Amino acid sequence: MSEKPNPVLSGPFFQHTGRCPACGAETTFVAEGPYFRNTLKCIKCKSAPRHRALVHVLSQYFPNWHSLKVHESSPGWDIVSQRLAQECRDYTASQFDPNIPFGDLIEAPTMPCKRYRCENLEEQTFQDQSFDLVITQDVFEHVFHPDLAIREIARTLKPGGATLMTVPIVRKSKPSRRRAALVAGKVVNLVEPPEFHGNPISNEGALVTIDWGFDIVGYLQHHSGLSFIMIQIDNIDLGIRADLIEVLIGFKTPIPYL
Ligand SMILES: [Zn+2]
Repeated sequence: MSEKPNPVLSGPFFQHTGRCPACGAETTFVAEGPYFRNTLKCIKCKSAPRHRALVHVLSQYFPNWHSLKVHESSPGWDIVSQRLAQECRDYTASQFDPNIPFGDLIEAPTMPCKRYRCENLEEQTFQDQSFDLVITQDVFEHVFHPDLAIREIARTLKPGGATLMTVPIVRKSKPSRRRAALVAGKVVNLVEPPEFHGNPISNEGALVTIDWGFDIVGYLQHHSGLSFIMIQIDNIDLGIRADLIEVLIGFKTPIPYL
């Protein structure tokens, strides 16, 4: 005797209808498993919760973002980077490639940006006060010198500008922990085994250098002079529900309540 399919077991793990901040559509958010950070996708644009959190914060705090001069470091060409490249009046993408002179422009006709600039985030060739917004998505857990990187970002921001970033704060209330360091030009892993995330320009992946805690806010503020806030969102109608999707904003001009 055949059994009827069990709708609970045969359907997706979770689904919810709502509006996707990343693509702007009325949509369904569907998760195939319990780890929503990776699995809770918009069926229309395939965005993940951290993408939707970033765009929601961007549109709430910078509703005129289309008209701003934006630098995005190391875009992975998810829906967020695609929209920034296509919709911002003035968008510059940069990638780190030690084999190419920093400051060089690389033609990339298949990428949404059409060309990108080769830059070391820790020692940029951009002039002071070049940008209204600098955006990094899950980049700061991969840099060896986050103090230099955030200082450089602050230098390249115009007065009144801001940096917007996602970064997985895996340690939460525990102190941040360095996983890997550069010693005499060589990578030394301080925590075994080394951990890698996807890298848009390398199949080897990007080494995780720091497991951040919430102390990242004070750290970035101390090294940049920017005024930081950390935003945590839980709003399932926007498809924003997951662990490790905090969004940080660092304002160049101090804001009154900070
Ligand atoms: Zn979407």
